[in-house]
Amino acid sequence: MWQEALAQFNEAAGILKISDREKKLLSTPVRILRKDLDIQMDDGSVKHFPAYRVQFNDWRGPYKGGIRFHPQVDLDEVQALSFLMGLKNTVADVPFGGGKGGVTCNPKELSKNELEKISRAFVRAFAQNLGMSKDVPAPDVYTDSQTMAWMLDEFSHVRGYTEYGFITGKPLELGGSVGRDIATSLGGIFVLEEALKKYKISKPKIVIQGAGNAGGNAALLLAKKKYPILAISDSKGGIYNPKGLDVDKVFAHKKKTGTVQNYPGAKNITNGELLELGCDVLVPAALENQITDQNADQIKAKIILELANGPVTAQARKILFKRKIQSIPDILANSGGVTVSYFEWVQNRTGYYWKEDEVHAKLKEKMVQAFKNVYEMGQKYKVDLGMAAYVYAVERLVQVGRLRGKF
Ligand code: NAD
Repeated sequence: MWQEALAQFNEAAGILKISDREKKLLSTPVRILRKDLDIQMDDGSVKHFPAYRVQFNDWRGPYKGGIRFHPQVDLDEVQALSFLMGLKNTVADVPFGGGKGGVTCNPKELSKNELEKISRAFVRAFAQNLGMSKDVPAPDVYTDSQTMAWMLDEFSHVRGYTEYGFITGKPLELGGSVGRDIATSLGGIFVLEEALKKYKISKPKIVIQGAGNAGGNAALLLAKKKYPILAISDSKGGIYNPKGLDVDKVFAHKKKTGTVQNYPGAKNITNGELLELGCDVLVPAALENQITDQNADQIKAKIILELANGPVTAQARKILFKRKIQSIPDILANSGGVTVSYFEWVQNRTGYYWKEDEVHAKLKEKMVQAFKNVYEMGQKYKVDLGMAAYVYAVERLVQVGRLRGKF
């Protein structure tokens, strides 16, 4: 993961012709923190869980990025994600640097009590390097608003007072922002609507992979806007109706049966078949590496909205670009989540809370501008939108570094 991120960074650095020293500083993390968390399990035994926080670059503001609880978490992954967060925060134009954390554990095998202990131990381990003006974590894979609430509470013990802006993605009752739950999907839709105007596509037919927070909310919001959704999937497989699905009914069916499959009035399909359906917009919103050099030639959509992290490989983006298919990169398409996290942090700092329509209006303004910036970079250097986002972020980081006298 780190090698792939670095390869794209080097390509962007080559396009911008930045110096070797600039390249080195921008691709080296400022701080790698790691500690084994010693946790007394419910059965009385003590287990050690490796924990990491990588702080990549804070020239534009405090480090910011989620904390992931997953068995596959390792330093390589956390470092790559930390680097990508720095680029995403720059593309989204929120005043943060890149950060990411993780604990190597399997939350599916842990009790609530054990998860709480791990969350609190993570904060105690790295508290000296965290804080509203230092490093602001958030939820990621298998962590949620409850995890953030435990972490806020533990940080309050360490500090001796409650610092709400220390972490985002909190429950509403503890300083969370309205609109955070659908922010990723809504932000993606704002970007998509700009792209549809730019590429002159009207009445787009849409296909979505994934029916969780990102994909499910995108489907519901797009259906509300009367866009036809032809297909949707989850881990068990997908469903397809060329005339369009009744998304509310599909989710009622999923709630009852646990999957979208076997929904009456649609045909069951595989996730592989879903990606290659005839449509205008394909929204991969589940897993990484779904569109690769193996299937990029078979994609029929005109626009791909990368709501998941890393669903389209760099190689695939190049193949798609040659075929005049625009893949809106993850660091732009799903940056609505971190943008509303930024709004949460601003509200915490001021102690004044906004209404939902205000959050949505501000989100729209940010996402429309971010798309414009990346699109223009693509036009200027004649590169795909994925590379354009890298070039845009690297150019801005170099400007900030030069102003600070870093090079
Ligand atoms: P989630 O766990 O809520 O949902 C994941 C969905 O993917 C589920 O519907 C699951 O059934 C489906 N899925 C799992 N395996 C699949 C497979 N093999 N084929 C098709 N579908 C499969 O997760 P989420 O929060 O929606 O995140 C999805 C992606 O979006 C991840 O890459 C995540 O990093 C990214 N993302 C999410 C947010 C957010 O705010 N939720 C923000 C930024 C990026």
